[in-house]
Amino acid sequence: MTQHQYDLVVLGGGPGGYVAAIRASQLGWSVACIDENAQLGGTCLRVGCIPSKALLESSERYAEACHSLAQHGVSVGQVGLDVGQMQRRKTQIVKTLALGIDGLFKQGGITRYLGRGRLDGSGAVTVTGDDGETRLDAKSILIATGSRPAPLPGVELDGDRIGTSTEALAYGEVPEHLVVIGAGYIGLELGSVWRRLGAKVTVLEALDRILPGMDLEIAQAAHQIFKKQGFEFRLQTRVQQAVVDGGRCVVRCEGTEPIQCDRVLLAIGRVPNTDDIGLDRAGIEVDRRGEILVGENYATSAPGVYAIGDCIRGPKLAHKASHEALVCIDAIAGQFAHVDYDTVPGVVYTHPELASVGRTEEQLQAAGREYRKGVFPMQASGRARTLGEIDGKVKILADAETDRLLGVHILGARAGDLIAEAAAAMAFGASAEDLAHLCHAHPTLAEALGEAALAIHHRAIHIPAPPRRGK
Ligand code: NAD
Repeated sequence: MTQHQYDLVVLGGGPGGYVAAIRASQLGWSVACIDENAQLGGTCLRVGCIPSKALLESSERYAEACHSLAQHGVSVGQVGLDVGQMQRRKTQIVKTLALGIDGLFKQGGITRYLGRGRLDGSGAVTVTGDDGETRLDAKSILIATGSRPAPLPGVELDGDRIGTSTEALAYGEVPEHLVVIGAGYIGLELGSVWRRLGAKVTVLEALDRILPGMDLEIAQAAHQIFKKQGFEFRLQTRVQQAVVDGGRCVVRCEGTEPIQCDRVLLAIGRVPNTDDIGLDRAGIEVDRRGEILVGENYATSAPGVYAIGDCIRGPKLAHKASHEALVCIDAIAGQFAHVDYDTVPGVVYTHPELASVGRTEEQLQAAGREYRKGVFPMQASGRARTLGEIDGKVKILADAETDRLLGVHILGARAGDLIAEAAAAMAFGASAEDLAHLCHAHPTLAEALGEAALAIHHRAIHIPAPPRRGK
């Protein structure tokens, strides 16, 4: 077996792993990154965030051409649909971005290993690839192996008709009837893609609401909009079985007739990729879900071994993984670094988008925290009117005594971009009044953030004031 020595060996080339490798190379370290996929970028780039956003954009253009261009006085005649071209565009975007990471690795002198990495005690990793086994000795090892779709007993994934997000990103044609299990991020984003392109979409959700992590008022408003878009929702519906029978899929749920459809998307969450990577041999502790337990600066229970991203606790979000990567490497290098988990935003790229940072109203109520709330509807925004995007609202929650921002929740066009201002304000400890006094360019959607902040003190300008008024 050949043997090499590095300052840092990274297990996984996703948005956690590749960012860590690049940061470490900037510090002058010798770095190796192991991934079993030839394309770097992990789930996010290959079969997650990026391809789904590519298809969301294409399908939204199609929906616009079919339903909303006419109101702008633009007529396009018969609108055609070429799913093959949409898929090729998506594939090209993924390829270009993956090549970009390859280039950055080359520039940074990072060595890539194609194969499966396994910890060999705490100071070494063995890579098994097509050309046999290679042993990498390392001063530090970073585990960034990510996650995979959670399975559901009774749902027989066949890698085609009954699949996960990976399959739903690659359908060659529009399903006639798609059944989505789980009204979370993936179910609603990929359900939106195929709904816009003409599929009947039925979403089966175990809980009595959609998007359980999001603020309830915002999720309920989104639910109404999605219903108008033609989604069929069945809440409090637990799936017992999904099988392919005679070329059709059959989905069975408690207490209802079986549903026949031609595609099933299972999207009930994700589980960490921590099996079979040698955690036992290195003495690394995991919780009952298999998530690696980490302490300060992402150190695991084995000396010199760190873990970040989807394989540890916390939201399974690419930007959380990348941020942890930077902080972890800087901390190993002895620099001050810190992730503020209260200001990690979440975005659901439906139409309109949902975006959130900080506490939800339910969390504040459960914690017995006194808060004030300001809400501004998008229909009162001039910019939203010009865009023809008046669905949604901005909701701001601030501490009743100090006025410090506690949570910002947005449903509306470009909410995913707007949330950056709220996250920055919260990261700098801003109050609602600080946000209200920011000078927002006019006309922009961001003005709605200022108005919602003013609304906390009943001072919003473009909505009628309630009867009682302060100064
Ligand atoms: P999710 O956690 O967002 O939603 C899963 C949904 O499935 C929940 O509503 C849950 O109540 C429901 N559910 C669970 N068991 C069920 C059952 N047996 N029957 C019916 N419903 C059931 O999970 P996801 O949509 O699979 O996404 C996984 C993760 O990937 C998310 O947590 C998110 O962090 C990440 N992701 C993020 C983005 C983004 O940032 N835009 C996009 C996609 C995925």
